[in-house]
Amino acid sequence: MGDSTGHKHKHLEFTLAAVSELSSSSSVSSSSTPVIARFSADDGVAALRFHQGSEFIDGFNVDLGTSQLFKLGPLQSLCVSESADTNKEKSYSRGVSIRFRNEEESRDFHSAFEQWQMESKGTHLPNGDISVSKSKFDNKIEPSSAKMYFHYYGQLLHQQNMLQDYVRTGTYYAAVIENRVDFTGRVVVDVGAGSGILSLFAAQAGAKHVYAVEASEMADYARKLITGNPTLGQRITVIKGKVEEAELPEKADILISEPMGTLLVNERMLESYIIARDQFLVPNGKMFPSTGRIHMAPFSDEYLFVEIANKALFWQQQNYYGVDLTPLYGSAFQGYFSQPVVDAFDPRLLVCPPMCHVLNFNEIKEEDLYEIDIPLKFTASVGTRVHGLACWFDVLFNGSTVQRWLTTAPGAPTTHWYQIRCVLSQPIYVMAGQEITGQLHMIAHNAQSYTIYLTLSEQGGIIQTSSCKLDLKEPYYRMSQPQPYTMAQDQQPHQLLQAEDIPPIHTEDLDLEELELLQQPSEPLGAQ
Ligand code: SAH
Repeated sequence: MGDSTGHKHKHLEFTLAAVSELSSSSSVSSSSTPVIARFSADDGVAALRFHQGSEFIDGFNVDLGTSQLFKLGPLQSLCVSESADTNKEKSYSRGVSIRFRNEEESRDFHSAFEQWQMESKGTHLPNGDISVSKSKFDNKIEPSSAKMYFHYYGQLLHQQNMLQDYVRTGTYYAAVIENRVDFTGRVVVDVGAGSGILSLFAAQAGAKHVYAVEASEMADYARKLITGNPTLGQRITVIKGKVEEAELPEKADILISEPMGTLLVNERMLESYIIARDQFLVPNGKMFPSTGRIHMAPFSDEYLFVEIANKALFWQQQNYYGVDLTPLYGSAFQGYFSQPVVDAFDPRLLVCPPMCHVLNFNEIKEEDLYEIDIPLKFTASVGTRVHGLACWFDVLFNGSTVQRWLTTAPGAPTTHWYQIRCVLSQPIYVMAGQEITGQLHMIAHNAQSYTIYLTLSEQGGIIQTSSCKLDLKEPYYRMSQPQPYTMAQDQQPHQLLQAEDIPPIHTEDLDLEELELLQQPSEPLGAQ
């Protein structure tokens, strides 16, 4: 039997006892010369052919894309495939009966058939190799989004931006080194290794072997960095490819990864982390991190609200070089309020103690992340105008020695994730002690992000409800440091509109005196 270990082979041969075509009486047995079943992809198409000696057995070709294999007995199987007849009216099935020499060969043949069939539905690479094109990743992610995403992470400057987030990298380092016992002598998989930094940390903590899986061109730089650190590097293997498509020679005792995007779930990489868990991790293996929490609280920020509303005022001009722009005012207004705001804010802007939604990475299913529905319920600590919902996240490294949280909370040392705020175009008024209810509903989309539907209601006096729809993929970065991954980063469409460019706001729309009064700092609220 040939090589049957991976999917990069071009042929695979089995010696059979005999083959016969059901519809004809032709039967070939191994009595004189052995009958060989040969899986091949020589001409870029995966097929199963039969030959005896150097002669192909005519008419027995099987197209793996349209065939099925049935086990008729311990030594006999039937391969049924669609006829290649071009006249669809007359389509019929063909059957090739296969007899094996022993049960082990029958079993191997069946598993090879399955694997080659999967591959035949995949893509044929220019070098003749076959890869399964429709991985879990490809099935749900738009190719143009993936291309841009991995292009971004393939650049050292963006890896440097993450490495220079010392809260982030330092917390990972501390969590790994303080929990050496979880790494020493263990097999580790680094999911989305980037520069390879977490693999090098794991090796420092005594890992037996680390598999660093990285899909972007950064994998080549990771190899370079790892080779340049030979004492650690000899225990690290870089695998260039998506985790959804990677094959590893052994199971992992522990996974390490940094799959968090803004609002925890942006970039949809948590799903890859969960897929890696199911594919590579031993039962009850450890995950670093093992838990993620999304924290949420209503906030009041008149300045932010005015700033966003002001952006659309450009479109209120009735004589822009002789053109009335007002027909587009409503759309522009909506557009600005559909961008989640990313910045670091003062936790005193929060008007209620926060609540949180927990994701247990050891237990959730990948599909659980396709749609996240969080019912909201808060009690206002102060009377004010609520302008929306502020969100941040933290993750837990549940080490055997030390438990450590990496937090992105307002008031805590700032990270490159900052915090995120969903701003309502219609603020709601609340009194101290009143209940605020609502819903945060996030639906994953194929551009590696989420559509967010937010509703907040005040139930006290006259019921007020305000809703908004936002695209997490299109945030408004409110500060000027290098940013984490976002498409808007590359396009920066909204940088064009500056406050100076727009006419002053009308006081009948927004009462600035009232704004100033409301802006008085409220009682400090611990963000966490
Ligand atoms: N682990 C590194 C990089 C984190 S950024 C560090 O902590 O510094 C996330 C990395 O995961 C990026 O380099 C990105 O290219 C990679 N990545 C994202 N999704 C992936 C997937 N499905 N398969 C493999 N790599 C992926």
